[in-house]
Amino acid sequence: MASSPSRLFAEISTAERPGSTRVLMRRAVVLGASMAGLLAARVLSDHAEEVLIIERDASEADNEPRPGVPQGTQVHGLLPAGNLQLDRWFPGFTAEAIEAGGTLPTPESARIYLNDVLRPPAPPVAGIGALVSTRPFLETLVRRRTLAVENISLVTGQVKGIDLSSTKVTGVRYTPTGADEPVTEAADMVVDGMGRSSKLSDWLEDAGWPAPELKRMPIKLNYATALFRRDTDISDSMVVVAQTTAGKGRVARMGGINAVEDDRWIMLIAGYGDDRPTRDFDDFKARCRRDFPSVFGDIAERAERLGEVITYHQADSRRREFHKLSRLPGGLVAAGDAVASFNPVYGQGMTSAMLHASCLSAHLRSGASPAEPAHGYFERVKVVVDAAWQISTQADLELPHVDGPYPKGYRVTSWLGDLVFAASMKDQELNARLSAVTMMLAHPMSLARPSTLLRAVKAKLSR
Ligand SMILES: Cc1cc2nc3c(=O)[nH]c(=O)nc-3n(C[C@H](O)[C@H](O)[C@H](O)COP(=O)(O)OP(=O)(O)OC[C@H]3O[C@@H](n4cnc5c(N)ncnc54)[C@H](O)[C@@H]3O)c2cc1C
Repeated sequence: MASSPSRLFAEISTAERPGSTRVLMRRAVVLGASMAGLLAARVLSDHAEEVLIIERDASEADNEPRPGVPQGTQVHGLLPAGNLQLDRWFPGFTAEAIEAGGTLPTPESARIYLNDVLRPPAPPVAGIGALVSTRPFLETLVRRRTLAVENISLVTGQVKGIDLSSTKVTGVRYTPTGADEPVTEAADMVVDGMGRSSKLSDWLEDAGWPAPELKRMPIKLNYATALFRRDTDISDSMVVVAQTTAGKGRVARMGGINAVEDDRWIMLIAGYGDDRPTRDFDDFKARCRRDFPSVFGDIAERAERLGEVITYHQADSRRREFHKLSRLPGGLVAAGDAVASFNPVYGQGMTSAMLHASCLSAHLRSGASPAEPAHGYFERVKVVVDAAWQISTQADLELPHVDGPYPKGYRVTSWLGDLVFAASMKDQELNARLSAVTMMLAHPMSLARPSTLLRAVKAKLSR
């Protein structure tokens, strides 16, 4: 395994397809058919004779939000690193998504405002973009490509627990949809992709195994999202992100507009704590006009609204520290939000889930046996989670209502982050390096390189 987090992250986030793969087990069972579960299933199809996915939601309603992923009604931006992984595991994915109606704006067409100041566009990275669509549209395409793989199948039902021997996981208990009694599926490897409310920790404790420590950062985030018919007489906007940070006379808020499939805009406004947008459309319009750049008000007031305003509250960012467990059943892994779920305004969740699949691939290709505890997998996942957690919590610790937990060295990293950020407004090379980190194409540690810091200091002195 590579020594530094930056190098390991570079290995994990590679776009290269694995060369030869070896079948290592008879059967893998994946719990949950959302982003983490689907991508993990695709990776496991290279190493298992058979992969079974168990998902509680029926999947016939394509492109529609579903109960198991309630956040699917809200704006979901895919970061370039996630897009890269989709093309890695499903060659031609982006082209197919565009053909089906998704959009691929250039970095220059994305307008990013920070405290009402338009940021310079990030220099384009050759061959790397980020698909823009609604969440259900993206998930439908990923599910279709996953289930097209010959040795992957899906059943619907509620997972109730896992079976464990004295050393490893041996099966999964679930109640098939429409049945009264649970059945057991044998498994050589089990992936928990059941999202942030996963019960895996309880199941481990009930069976006498240690559960991972759960770390939380309360963020009290409030989202409201509405869909509109796109109209170029009102705006040519494809992607707009507007963020205000808390400060003198300023309240922390976030707004976003994405041009999505079927000629629509999806628009989000978000606040924290008691700053709660409601389902009332008059309130939505008033907030758009008052709190965000004019394009928000223009669309809300003039474009045809499609459906109701839908709100969502997320109380905290959280991570489960599987990497610290010294005792772990062989063959058991967790991925996606089941390991870590972040403040969604930074758009990291789906990309992290995709990078966890890449960690699973690297782990299984490293010669590790699926029967052994997957410590190597969780060490890789830690690098991905640390990268996302550092970006999101560093910014969230600036919010007045967030008072920890503070990571080690917070003051120094915060000062360095501010230094690089300020310099990136003027220096396009620094803008590119910083964007690579926020797009999850590089680890935040890569910004601590002396050449980057020197450039940032020079920019500060020259101001
Ligand atoms: C408001 C909001 C906005 C967001 N915006 C973005 C964004 O812009 N960009 C981004 O990348 N991410 C965003 N995210 C995060 C993103 O939604 C998640 O990170 C992502 O969905 C995680 O995928 P997952 O597969 O780990 O879990 P989930 O998507 O939560 O899926 C869990 C799956 O497990 C199934 N399941 C659960 N329990 C059982 C059971 N017992 N039996 C069978 N099946 C079960 C569920 O039905 C579901 O299909 C946002 C999140 C929120 C809350």
